[in-house]
Amino acid sequence: MVQLLERDGFRAVRHPEKASILIVNTCGFIGPAREESYSVLRELSEAKRPDQLLIAAGCLTQRYGAEVARQVPGLDGILGTRRWMDIVEVVRQLRSRPQPASGIQQAQTGNPGLRPEPLYHLPETPTIGTDENGALRASIAGASAYLKIADGCRRPCAFCAIPLIKGTTVSRPLETILEEARRLRDLGMREIVLIAQDTTDYGHDLGLQDGLATLLEKMTVAIPEVDWIRILYAFPGYVTDRLIDVMASHPQVLPYLDIPLQHAAPATLTRMRRPANIDWVHSTIAKMRSRLPKLAIRTTFIVGYPGETRAEFQTLLDFIEEMRFDHVGAFQYSAEIGTASEALGDPVSATVKERRFERLMELQQGISLQINQSFVGQKLDVLIEGQEKNGIAIGRSYRDAPEIDGMVLVEGKAELGSIIPVRITGAMAYDLSGVPESQKR
Ligand code: SF4
Repeated sequence: MVQLLERDGFRAVRHPEKASILIVNTCGFIGPAREESYSVLRELSEAKRPDQLLIAAGCLTQRYGAEVARQVPGLDGILGTRRWMDIVEVVRQLRSRPQPASGIQQAQTGNPGLRPEPLYHLPETPTIGTDENGALRASIAGASAYLKIADGCRRPCAFCAIPLIKGTTVSRPLETILEEARRLRDLGMREIVLIAQDTTDYGHDLGLQDGLATLLEKMTVAIPEVDWIRILYAFPGYVTDRLIDVMASHPQVLPYLDIPLQHAAPATLTRMRRPANIDWVHSTIAKMRSRLPKLAIRTTFIVGYPGETRAEFQTLLDFIEEMRFDHVGAFQYSAEIGTASEALGDPVSATVKERRFERLMELQQGISLQINQSFVGQKLDVLIEGQEKNGIAIGRSYRDAPEIDGMVLVEGKAELGSIIPVRITGAMAYDLSGVPESQKR
């Protein structure tokens, strides 16, 4: 949206009071995210001047447009997540509407200054990759970019509202992704992170078999200059032998896999409507670890899912202990409106959820520390992303995805966006520290 608006003559500003248009890209995935979106919208709505326009965009509005309008009275526009590329048109329409009178004008003219109804722009049409008016679909931070390869999801996970918000999977055409990857390379990106709700489903709707593996192979040919290609959000059961082969035979594709497993007890997984074949997880991870000895795995679990017994939770803890994942994230279950598991209620108490969450995180902290300690003395390439005033540079190795995993704290100054070899000298539960080994690349 920023790119499209800039092309139309707008300029992004840092402070809301300086903006003529305020756009909030909302999240509607879980309760806390919805609350945060509402609170930001209300805050802006209360502070905004009559000449400013406030637009709510994103997932929350796509699913709950009328409710958002009800909860945020000063809203001017409501734009869903499917047609974000229509932002310029929405702004044009809003600007052509008569503005409500200011307080002074109201007093002078007796005009009550009623606001018109918000403008709703919520078409259902998914148009990913075909109608983005040349805007880069990637989100860039420093020398790393998230590249979206598909949007929506066709999996049946009982707890998840995403298919209700986003609809089914729509993959971007392969050539469009490659073109965008080349543009990112030209912008000097050192890392491209492939994302979708389920990256392993990429290309299914385009008739591709093993679409993610095919895409990766083509990317390595199209952008050999980009140092790291990382895969997030793989779905259990869909990490194929060919995908493992491609990862093992192309050093550019990082030996890193984010595979949200959500639970380990087959009964819980069945209630979640997730793949419950835990043997597949064991055999696939064993296969990957033998083909990719440096493999780092991130996963996510939900605790307190309806009906999760003490024994089921213990199965999860035992599994985590056995599998020794590099990074684990956990969520406490919250019932989401309209999902299949909403009907199960939310019987696990908040106290039990919290206790289970803490036990799981504590267990993982110990594992993560031990794994980190095994890296002391080793050399890792680190992508530098920040420089602290105290002379410490901050970066990430192949083991860490941006924003969610750990960091490597490097002594001294280092150029932002460079990849430097670092000798690891210290380990904490989540982060590593080290000293630069030699010249940067
Ligand atoms: S695969 Fe992920 S996005 Fe899709 S329904 Fe399951 S949890 Fe939701």
